[in-house]
Amino acid sequence: MEERDVRFVRLWFTDVLGFLKSVAITPAELEGSFAEGIGFDGSAIEGYARIQESDMVAHPDPTTFQLLPWRTQSSTARMFCDITLPDGSPSFADPRFVLKRALKKAGDMGFTFYTHPEIEFFLFRGELVPGQRPIPLDTGGYFDHTTLGDGTDFRRDAIQMLEQMGISVEFSHHEGAPGQHEIDLRYADALTMADNIMTFRVVIKELAAAQGITASFMPKPFTEWPGSGMHTHMSLFEGDNNAFYDAADEYRLSRIGKQFVAGLLHHSAEITAVTNQWVNSYKRLGGGGEAPAYVCWGRNNRSALVRIPMFRADKSSSARIEMRSIDSSSNPYLSYALMLAAGLSGIEHEMELPEEAADDVWALSERERSLMGIRQLPRNLDEAIREMENSELVAETLGEHVFDYFLRNKRAEFEEYRRQVTVHELTTLLPRV
Ligand code: GLN
Ligand code: MG
Ligand code: MG
Ligand code: MG
Repeated sequence: MEERDVRFVRLWFTDVLGFLKSVAITPAELEGSFAEGIGFDGSAIEGYARIQESDMVAHPDPTTFQLLPWRTQSSTARMFCDITLPDGSPSFADPRFVLKRALKKAGDMGFTFYTHPEIEFFLFRGELVPGQRPIPLDTGGYFDHTTLGDGTDFRRDAIQMLEQMGISVEFSHHEGAPGQHEIDLRYADALTMADNIMTFRVVIKELAAAQGITASFMPKPFTEWPGSGMHTHMSLFEGDNNAFYDAADEYRLSRIGKQFVAGLLHHSAEITAVTNQWVNSYKRLGGGGEAPAYVCWGRNNRSALVRIPMFRADKSSSARIEMRSIDSSSNPYLSYALMLAAGLSGIEHEMELPEEAADDVWALSERERSLMGIRQLPRNLDEAIREMENSELVAETLGEHVFDYFLRNKRAEFEEYRRQVTVHELTTLLPRV
C-alpha cells in the first residue's frame, strides 16, 4: 500500500438482497482490521440483525485486495470481508458465509465448485427518471457491431477495468435488445466468482456514471424486448479432474454430471425466489426472449432451464452445464449456494436425469407439456415464495436467519406490488368500463 500510495481501503460486504455495502478505512487502521476486524452497526443493514444484537465485525480477506481503477484522485483499494459477531462466531446473515458453508459441504464430498456467468445488462441514455421508460443507448441487436461511441466502446473500457482488477473476461457482445450487452467472465471457483460479480456490477455502474449514461441489471426493463439473464455455467472438479466429463457418454457428461442436473431440475422451483428475487424477475421468465419458463434440459435448446453446451464438450476441462433461469440482479452468493446444494442433492440421492426436451417447449401445448412431465417454473414472486416456504433444502442451505428474513422481505414486496393500480389497467380497462 505504501508503494502504491493507497490512501483509503474500502471494506466490502453484501446484504441479504445482494446490495454492496462499504466502509472506508485509512491505512493506519489496516493492521487493526486484520487483527480484530472493524466494528459496525449491523441493524441498519438489510437482513443482518435485530436491534438487540446489532454489533457486527467486518474481517477483510487479504486475498481479495485490489486497487479501484476508477479512483484516480487518491489511490483507493478494496477487500471483501467476512462478517462475525463480537465473539468471533460467523454472522449467519452474511451471504458470503452462506456460500462458504455450502462450498464446505461440496469440499467434504471431494468437490471444488467452478462457475462462470454470462452477465447481461442494459445501457441507457443520461440519468433515469423514476417512473419513466428508459431510453436505450443504441439500437443494436444480437451480436451487432454498433458504431463507435455506443456500447462497443463501453464494453472495451469495462473489460480493461475488470482485467485491471484481476477479473478475466472470456468474451462480450451486443445482446438481443437495444442498449443490451453481455460480458462473460472466465471461470473461477464460486466464491471468487460471487465476489467478481459484485465487483462487476460496481465497475459497470461506475463506468456508466463517468460517461454520463446509466447501466442497469434490472431483469426486464421493457415489455417488448428480452430481459437480462445471468446464465451460469457450472462444473465440479475432483482435484484436476472434471467430475462432469465422460468421454464415452453421448453428451460427454458423467453420471455425476447427470445427477447434478437432475438435482438442479428437481429443486429448481424451490430456489427460484432467490435466483429470481424481484417481482420484475418474473416478467423476464414469463416473457419469452429465450428466458426459460419450464423445468427441462436440452443440448442446444435455448428455451430449456438447463443446457448442456456441446461446444468444446470434447475437452475434458470444459465439460459443464448451464443454468439459464438466474438473472443479473440476484444475490450471487445465495444463488450459487442454492444451485450447488440442489446439484449436490441430485448426487447424494442418485437422481435420474429425465429425458431431454428436444422441442421448443414454448411451442408445445399445456397438455403436451404435462404429458411429457414438464413442470412450469413459478410464474410470479408469490408462487416462488410458496415453493421456497416448503423447501427443506433452501432452509438448510440459507440457514434459519436468512431463510426467514428473505421470505418476510419478499412477501412484503409482493403484497405492495399486488395492490398497485398499473398503467396497464389504466390503459386497457379505464376507457372501457
Ligand atoms: N436475454 C436472454 C435471457 O433473458 C438470453 C439470451 C441469450 O443469451 N441467448 O435469458
Ligand atoms: Mg451468452
Ligand atoms: Mg446472452
Ligand atoms: Mg447462455
